[in-house]
Amino acid sequence: MVDEAILDKYRKAGRVCAEAAAFGRTIAKPGTTMLDLGTRIEKFIVDKGVGLSFPVNLSLDDCAAHYSPGIDDKSVLPEKGLLKIDVGTQVDGYIADHAITIDVGSNGGVYQKLIDAAAAALDVVVKNFYTGENVIHIGKLVEETIVKAGFTPIRNLGGHNLEQYNLHGGVFVPNTGSGYPYVLKEGDIFAVEPFSTTGTGYVVDGSTWMIYRFNKRPRHQVNMQVATTLELIRKQFNTLPFSPRWLIGKMPRERIMPTIKELASKDSLQYYPLLMERGKGLVAQMEHTIIVHKDRSEVTTVI
Ligand code: MN
Ligand code: MN
Repeated sequence: MVDEAILDKYRKAGRVCAEAAAFGRTIAKPGTTMLDLGTRIEKFIVDKGVGLSFPVNLSLDDCAAHYSPGIDDKSVLPEKGLLKIDVGTQVDGYIADHAITIDVGSNGGVYQKLIDAAAAALDVVVKNFYTGENVIHIGKLVEETIVKAGFTPIRNLGGHNLEQYNLHGGVFVPNTGSGYPYVLKEGDIFAVEPFSTTGTGYVVDGSTWMIYRFNKRPRHQVNMQVATTLELIRKQFNTLPFSPRWLIGKMPRERIMPTIKELASKDSLQYYPLLMERGKGLVAQMEHTIIVHKDRSEVTTVI
């Protein structure tokens, strides 16, 4: 049973998500600060009356995902770099997840080729993402496309189904031809994200993290001092990922990071480490959110 009113919320989230990434492209230049880029993209979304489903990810070069500017982030876009802008929006918890990759400084060469490979893989996915298709076959198409372009797909990253207020519904769409089978059915919502790299094709956890999430089942109790912040986080962000930046103005600025660290140490918050390419290869990513229909796909993350 496909509820059109719900699909319309996915569509609205998707359109604003695509607009936000396109806006990001216009301001992502050498010298732009990550903090400025991130906050302006997020503001663009909120100003359209749409919610964020995760902090904007601005991952550079061999960082494949999960870099989101910190409160006092001073980093600046370089003259040469591969920047993934991964944006998440939501309308009443119905999510859009969308990523583009930018050749910062327009250096062409391998930078542009990696982007083209991920984009070609995503194109193939969009053409084949309909009822009856198996996600293993989708992964095989991604792998073939990226290998044909002379690069390697990232094997331990991939697409995922979306549910209300849930970014990763439990079905995985591999970027290779191996994984758990799942046959697409009408009304399924998926984010699909081919990654191409010059490296090994595996990501490993980095030693820092900038994105957190409320944990519904913590192992420890927290003290009264930080419990108020935890309740604020739960109310504001539900179980969706958030950035400490989003607490600015809601509590004393100097208390934000100590409180978050305390909550994370008590397991009340989960955190997302940076995902780094194991061989330090350059990484490109392209991602769309798709509604599965009978014999066709509908991309929500388009303008
Ligand atoms: Mn994404
Ligand atoms: Mn995703």
